[in-house]
Amino acid sequence: MPIQWFPGHMHATRKAIAERMPEIDVVIELLDARLPGSSANPLLAELTRGKPALKVLNKQDLADPQQTASWLAHYQAQAGTRALALDASDTAPARRLIAACRELAPLRGGMAKPMRVLICGIPNVGKSTLVNTLRGGKRAAKTGDEAGITKTEQRIVLADDFYLFDTPGMLWPRIAIEPSGYLLAASGAVGRNAYDDEEVALALLTQMLRHHADRLRDRYKLGDLAGLSDEAVLADIGRKRAPLLSGGLPHMQKAAEIAIHDFRSGAWGPVTLETLQEFTQWQAQAKLLDAEREARRAARSNTKNQVPPRGQGGDDGAGKG
Ligand code: GDP
Repeated sequence: MPIQWFPGHMHATRKAIAERMPEIDVVIELLDARLPGSSANPLLAELTRGKPALKVLNKQDLADPQQTASWLAHYQAQAGTRALALDASDTAPARRLIAACRELAPLRGGMAKPMRVLICGIPNVGKSTLVNTLRGGKRAAKTGDEAGITKTEQRIVLADDFYLFDTPGMLWPRIAIEPSGYLLAASGAVGRNAYDDEEVALALLTQMLRHHADRLRDRYKLGDLAGLSDEAVLADIGRKRAPLLSGGLPHMQKAAEIAIHDFRSGAWGPVTLETLQEFTQWQAQAKLLDAEREARRAARSNTKNQVPPRGQGGDDGAGKG
């Protein structure tokens, strides 16, 4: 089952971003460096089209540095876009962020034309942590403190001529790329009741087996994983780490919880779950499926609108006169 999660407060965030957008000079999007394609929000891309963009691959300490470098190069090559990697150990990230924004919008700055930057990202990507660091000792404009600052935003003054508008974490209404939905759930971006642990853990293990099988082997003291399915590995994790169920069966639910927890906490070491090539394929497949779905929908609506043949109650006027 594809994962979907777009609760009411995200509708409010979408509206707030759309309203703020005309006066924004640069959009900072925080991505999860472990899923740098899946964590990029297509709804945000739509809302901020044409605006200079700074992609921040956050939690880089949890990601594979080589993969981070190739994803950075990918984003960096996009028009009007800069990219950098960051993690919470950077206690003074403001200088790099401000410099990148100034490069993206060189005509802004100075008291007459202060730089106005919007910062967005999926839930749990580390935005509050970063914003708190950026804020330092400075007090953020409290919601509702200032006219024009909506309840869903906060304004942080990073320099006299540099304003940062913070927005709550947002996903998008239909996650068309199924593996992305699972990886987003694994990262903690999706509400607990919107996914099944076992499905998410299996998707997570599929990607781990593709890219970092050795990490699984080391962490859970497993044998040779070559040729093993995600399900077999999850069962092995259950056997190693959780009490067996009656009948000696592995506790798959417990195993799934352990796998997801270990991924979130970084217990597997630095891992990136998707390569650019793989994500591009997922995108193409999802597009194809969408096109097929749309064709079926059009065919259904054509059938519905079709005039019944004569003699079956239809009257298209044909044959009259
Ligand atoms: P938000 O929902 O985007 O505001 O995310 P938070 O700032 O609340 O962070 C979510 C979780 O990720 C928290 O447990 C943070 O401690 C953790 N976190 C945030 N940034 C980093 C980072 O750069 N590296 C690591 N390892 N963890 C981080």
